[in-house]
Order: sequence, then C-alpha cells, then structure tokens
Amino acid sequence: AKEQGRSNFQFYTEQMNASSLQRLLLEGVLRRALERNEFLLYYQPQISLESGKIIGMEALLRWQHPEKGLMAPAQFIPILEETGLIVPVGEWVLRAAATQIKQWQAMEFPRLRVAVNLSALQFRQPGLSQIIATILDEVGLNYASGCLEVELTESLIMKDVEGTIATLKSLHEMGVQISIDDFGTGYSSLSYLKRFPIDTLKIDQSFVRDLSTSPDDASIVTAIIALGHSLKLKVIAEGVETKEQLAFLQASKCDDVQGYLFSKPLPAAEITRLLQEGKLL
Ligand code: C2E
Ligand code: CA
Ligand code: CA
Ligand code: CA
Repeated sequence: AKEQGRSNFQFYTEQMNASSLQRLLLEGVLRRALERNEFLLYYQPQISLESGKIIGMEALLRWQHPEKGLMAPAQFIPILEETGLIVPVGEWVLRAAATQIKQWQAMEFPRLRVAVNLSALQFRQPGLSQIIATILDEVGLNYASGCLEVELTESLIMKDVEGTIATLKSLHEMGVQISIDDFGTGYSSLSYLKRFPIDTLKIDQSFVRDLSTSPDDASIVTAIIALGHSLKLKVIAEGVETKEQLAFLQASKCDDVQGYLFSKPLPAAEITRLLQEGKLL
C-alpha cells in the first residue's frame, strides 16, 4: 500500500504539476485569511525634510498567520496577484486605511496623508474610482482634502497610457493623491509623465541604498529630484537607512524621506504614539 501511495503521488504531481496544486491550496488558505480577518496594516512614517515632522505614512499589508506568525507581503502577494484575490484584499486595504485615517483625524492629527499600494489588477478594474469612492463613503472619510494617496509603480502606469490617464484623472478629481512608486526602475517617457495628473515621485530604494558608494546612483537620485521639481512634483526617497543617505537627500533638496533610519513599518497604535510624541527627525 505504501508503494501504491507513492506512485499515486507521483501520478498527481506529473499530471497536475506541484505548483498549480500548491497554488490552489494557498488560494483557499488566503481566501479564508480574508474571511477570518487575518490581514492587517502596518504603517511606515514619511517625514518632511523641511519641518522634520511626520507628514504621512505608507500602509503596508501584513498577514497574521495563526501558526506561522506575521508574514511579509513577499510571502503572499504574488499568490494574491496570480489568483486575483488581490482585488478583494486590495479593497480591504483601502477600507482599513480609510478607517485608520478617520481615527487619526478624530485625534489631533487632521492633516496626515496615508498612501496605499495599488496592484495592476486593481488599477485596471473598470470603474476603479467609483469603487474607491464607495468604500471611502461607507467609511465616512472626507477624502476631498487629499488625505488618501495611492502608490502605483512606474512600470504599471506606463502600460496602456491612455487608460492610465483616464483613471488617474478621475481619481485625482476626487481628491486622491497619486504617487509613482519605484521611480527610476521603469522606462518613463517624459512626455507621458507630463500628461499624468500625479503629485509625487517616489525614488526607488535601490538607488538610495548605494548613494554613498555609487556615483551613478547619486547622479540618478539628483536627476530624479530635478526632474520631479521641474514638473512641480514632490519627491520622496524610500529605503533611507543611514545618516549619510539622509545628508545627501537633504543637500539635494529631496522633499520627504521614508526608511528604517526613522522608523520601521509599525502597527497603528505605535504610530499613534510616535505622533503624540511629535517626534522630529
Ligand atoms: P514597496 O511599495 O516598494 O514598499 C516598500 C518596502 O520597503 C516595504 O516592504 C517596506 O517595509 C520596505 N522598507 C521600508 N523602509 C526600508 C528601509 O529603510 N530599508 C529596506 N531595506 N526596506 C525598507 P514590505 O512591507 O515588505 O512590502 C513589500 C512590497 O509589497 C511593497 O513594496 C509593495 O510592492 C507590496 N505591498 C505591500 N503592501 C501592499 C498592499 O497593500 N497592496 C499591494 N498591492 N501591494 C503591497
Ligand atoms: Ca509603495
Ligand atoms: Ca517602492
Ligand atoms: Ca518595490
């Protein structure tokens, strides 16, 4: 019987291939995770270099696995994307972030802005801006003030440019701020960039990482800041870990920074504590 069990197993792996079987199992696990409310958001502060104060944060998805503990997005976002579950999970993210913004507004922090990552599948959904408006209205968040930002990667927005412009316009008209994530890693056409209604360029952390040792990366960072400012955009650097990187970004007139040097992503309660301390850079 043991022999047979083994050959059966081989049969299935050959016929179905292990990865699709595994994916099917994981999809069920992730669907239940959403139903059981096992996802949560961490928040990472973004600091204005002018004032040294926290001006907002990026919401970053985590999964509190009942046995394995806290899981980072790299461990499950690819499966959410492959299975399309990123759409309902992404809507959960928007609702959770909006609820948290409302709570911070009800405390003494009315001006904070929270950035949420949108995946390609979510962004290309027909009627996206209406879907987002409905979620925000259900939460009762007044988003016309620009308290919600969406982060879209550079490679995402450069595909189907006309579709991108239409969706960005309707989001922007609602008051949603738009940030281009991982900027510098894709192939932005400057003429398109000018046509997009965007607010912020977010310099990819790969350029920030080697700022102090790579003259090429330092030049790229300087160039992105100049480009952003010439297009009247705000520029934020992510992945800032050292004082040297910070000094370079300050000297280069980068607007905002985000990274471990200031804070890791944290649960909302810990962010509230940081805000109450009024911590400066
Ligand atoms: P991202 O949008 O580029 O987010 C920045 C990542 O860099 C985060 O990783 C953050 O924790 C990490 N990070 C922040 N500061 C530093 C630093 O100083 N040094 C280094 N080495 N890393 C830093 P995380 O939270 O693991 O998220 C990874 C990716 O998962 C994100 O990259 C984003 O693409 C995706 N993601 C996270 N949350 C969501 C979500 O709600 N929806 C979607 N669609 N994607 C998400
Ligand atoms: Ca991001
Ligand atoms: Ca990024
Ligand atoms: Ca990234």
